[in-house]
Amino acid sequence: MSLPKPASLTPSKVTSFRECAFAFRLSVIDKIPQPTNIWTLRGSLAHRVLDRFYYEVPQGQRTRAQAQAIFDEVWSDFISRSEFLDLLRGLSERDLSTLRSSSWKMVDNDFRVENPNEVRVLGTEIMMETVHQDIVLRGVIDRLDLNSDGSLTVTDYKTGRIPSELKEHEKLIGVHFYALLCEAVLKKRPSSVQLIYLKDALTIVAHPTEASIRSLQTKTSAIWRAVEHACDRDDFRPRPSKLCSYCSYQTLCPAQRGSLTETSSGERAQSFNEYREPNV
Ligand code: SF4
Repeated sequence: MSLPKPASLTPSKVTSFRECAFAFRLSVIDKIPQPTNIWTLRGSLAHRVLDRFYYEVPQGQRTRAQAQAIFDEVWSDFISRSEFLDLLRGLSERDLSTLRSSSWKMVDNDFRVENPNEVRVLGTEIMMETVHQDIVLRGVIDRLDLNSDGSLTVTDYKTGRIPSELKEHEKLIGVHFYALLCEAVLKKRPSSVQLIYLKDALTIVAHPTEASIRSLQTKTSAIWRAVEHACDRDDFRPRPSKLCSYCSYQTLCPAQRGSLTETSSGERAQSFNEYREPNV
């Protein structure tokens, strides 16, 4: 029986399909929610703080104290949200304190990789969408900056570990995806796309070209055909890898049968000590 095709492709769907088609199916086609873990919570929190900081605080007035004040507000909001209550209730005082300090460190590290007062922000959290060869491409740009020479820079915050050389290539697919969206929607190709790795205070910069964007279009079309093919045949195969250790679909995965302990992956995600940090 064929399965319904996804309505759009996004950078995260492209990565998900390339990493494990079975997990992609459960997430994108079957829409089985993935439980929030402390790493995704921390990532969402850091994104929200930087989103507000660059949007609300004018250029020239951006200080650590301003960022800290926004961080305190966002922290209070997040820890009272019903969606996070179960997760946070399972944390010890020590883990909660570690979560808070490591979340703030991510925000603070932004000051180490760039001078916020030099950033001229055009917008944050910008949803962009275009259609290429009948495929809807969609993505949310964390921050769009206007450079002094009139060119554009797309900034994407990363809250996981720095990727290996091989993974870096994968991450750059997302970079060129944002460049493609920008060019299609704003009719202007960004001169650079920067990935800011907040945990390690490191930036990877790529300069999109006509060739890199055309190459991305070709890759995107090929991935879409592979997704269609998999939907038509209901053929999404698991691809076991290191990523399985933090996959929330382990209990549903045929490749994991016989290798699971009695503890569910969701339960293992509750502690900093027991959960390996993903590369996101
Ligand atoms: S456990 Fe591994 S193979 Fe199974 S769905 Fe998750 S990532 Fe894919």
